[in-house]
Amino acid sequence: MPRKTNPSPELLMQVYERLLADQGPRHWWPAESPFEVIVGAVLTQNTQWRTVSPALDRMKAADLWTWEKILAAKTPVLVEAIRPAGYFNGKARKLKEFASFVVNEFEGSQDALFELDTSVLRERLLGVWGIGEETADDIVLYAANKPSFVMDKYTMRIVDRLGWRVSGKKYADYQRLFSERLPVDVPLYNEYHALVDGHGAKVCRTQPKCAGCCLFDLCATGKGNLGQNALSLQGRG
Ligand code: SF4
Repeated sequence: MPRKTNPSPELLMQVYERLLADQGPRHWWPAESPFEVIVGAVLTQNTQWRTVSPALDRMKAADLWTWEKILAAKTPVLVEAIRPAGYFNGKARKLKEFASFVVNEFEGSQDALFELDTSVLRERLLGVWGIGEETADDIVLYAANKPSFVMDKYTMRIVDRLGWRVSGKKYADYQRLFSERLPVDVPLYNEYHALVDGHGAKVCRTQPKCAGCCLFDLCATGKGNLGQNALSLQGRG
């Protein structure tokens, strides 16, 4: 394995521009309201988005579309509505815990919650049962429109494959690699995470499709997989 390198801020932006040119804007998060972002962020834990959409539709059809209604619903009714998203018992409890948090502490208004400063907001979210770092950052960035760079398994895997040095193995270590180098900018954070996610889902998969990857010449693993010859053929060597 080649030696790890410290990516420069310029390199991070180069990766961003390449991914943007490759995929175009991804218009995240796919939701019509901050409420829907939060519910979606909980339901998408440990599953793919395609299983979340039907669960959201079923919640709307079951009239479970406010925090008060989620809190008041009988648990089996909520479980049945979100069944397509998997892990439905745990996710039903998470939604009820979040509903209780917003209803009891912010009078049912996530807008009141979002008035908190970014770091305080993140801490308060992490204090809700079932809300981990990635979900909290999804909510801060995509629902509250505040700057918190979202990390996920795809991004961590791509960082490792690119050969970038990370100060540790934790979520926060990978997150810092981006937040310390990028300008604090909500639209940039928004699009960057969406693009990396798309790249991880379609190209840099468990079995990466390095041939033709738009990051190939920047990637230690890609060069190792395909060799310098392919790089020369691409005209980037
Ligand atoms: S070159 Fe291969 S390993 Fe590197 S980012 Fe692209 S798909 Fe992933």
